[in-house]
Amino acid sequence: MSQINHETLDRLRKHEMIDLTLRLRDFSIDLYEQLKLNSKNSSKPPSSDSPFQKIKEADDHTDSPNQSANDIQDHADDNKKDPSSDSQTKNTSAGGEHKRSPGRQPGSQGFGRREKPVDYQIEHHYPQQCVICNRLLAPGANPHSGFYSFELERRPHEVTITCTLHYYYSQTCDCGHENVQHPASGYESIIEGRTRNLKLSEYTIVGPMLATFIASLSRRSGMSRKKIRLFLHDWFGFDLSIGMICKSIREAGIACYPVVDDLIDQLQREDKVHIDETPWYQKGVFCWVWVAISQNIAIYQIGTRKKQQLLNLITKAFFGWLITDGYGAYRSYEKRQRCLAHLIRKAIALTGAVDKQAQKAGDWLLRELRSLIKLMAQGEAGMKPCRPILARLKRACNLGSQSDHAKLKSLAKEILNDWDAVVAFVKNPGLPATNNEAERALRWVVLYRKITFGTRTDEGSHSFAALISVIETCSLRNIEPWNYIAQSISRGRKGLAPLPIE
Ligand SMILES: [Zn+2]
Repeated sequence: MSQINHETLDRLRKHEMIDLTLRLRDFSIDLYEQLKLNSKNSSKPPSSDSPFQKIKEADDHTDSPNQSANDIQDHADDNKKDPSSDSQTKNTSAGGEHKRSPGRQPGSQGFGRREKPVDYQIEHHYPQQCVICNRLLAPGANPHSGFYSFELERRPHEVTITCTLHYYYSQTCDCGHENVQHPASGYESIIEGRTRNLKLSEYTIVGPMLATFIASLSRRSGMSRKKIRLFLHDWFGFDLSIGMICKSIREAGIACYPVVDDLIDQLQREDKVHIDETPWYQKGVFCWVWVAISQNIAIYQIGTRKKQQLLNLITKAFFGWLITDGYGAYRSYEKRQRCLAHLIRKAIALTGAVDKQAQKAGDWLLRELRSLIKLMAQGEAGMKPCRPILARLKRACNLGSQSDHAKLKSLAKEILNDWDAVVAFVKNPGLPATNNEAERALRWVVLYRKITFGTRTDEGSHSFAALISVIETCSLRNIEPWNYIAQSISRGRKGLAPLPIE
């Protein structure tokens, strides 16, 4: 097709011209129809749909039932959100039928634990000291309350679920005060309008390591609550309600909140931070996951794509280098390296252009960008040998920016407009030329989104982000994450702050 030009068309006879035009028409119709294919009109999976298209559709018919919100029913959390919130109203069905909230319905048949555990240890919890007179107390005789709790125990090549019966005692002191021992409790995550708030407490059936295990099945392996329930039943003969599974997953994330606050403080002192963002859904509503990753810190956040959200991660106290893509919110940071991989991909696309000139220019840009990276990667080079390449790259961009070819023009301008950030790694050896670290850190999040369709509530998003931040930071520091998270839950249930990750 690239051979068609004014002269060749001029030489054609009328019927040949008609023939050619019709063939071109059929060809463009074919292409157009291929472009229009998506999960609703072909066998393509929903995950292949563009998230940007989805948000457009949601804006177009806000009244219609929200497809992706229905899809996540399986991943339902049992929290009821404030009914006046945006996402809730967006999700109302078009037919005006009563909207069913996720989780157990009011008045439906509940179920408790039918069988008593046969094999369990007993742990006694006595009041140690009188709170009034500090006198030491003798162990009491009769417990005032008790409950069973299950814990996952990890030994080399073995995992088992064990059961403990906890007895709590009261004891009257000689001074007359009755000291009552209760299970400890800590942080409470409050959501307005929720029937029961989530409180970290020792008074629970799920032990810290078991809760961590459940959270890892959900957040790491992308298993739905129903599948986790089946898994526990099949492999451990252990039955747990969907509500308790959901609570355990949340709890693991909430126990990590203070750790993440601490990590954000540490991040401001790093000298190189990779940052990137990718689409996310919260109850079918479009939002973004951000990741900021340095050599030994990884922090994820879910929210808007606005500058304000970025400032939560990279505050004014940050004076290091940012490695980013071309997104506008990053532009105000002076010490910034623009990811060259994005520019190289665009140059590669140009080399496949129909237009011969654009093809050549794409080749040229690609050559200069690649040799720049290669030369810097050799290490000893320094600034000097790069100068001719920089000069040629600039010339290629200057020429490209005057071209009529839209894509070439925009790529050339993109490089020129952000020149200092594109070549920062030449002047500052040691800066990476690409943002691969951040993109790799987001890769599995994208896969997780495709499996689970995202999160449902603010608390769900927040706790998910906190948990994966801790998991990723642990793996950057070569620390086993699960013991650390279980320990944080255990401390959180006592109202103690988690220990630093080290
Ligand atoms: Zn006393």
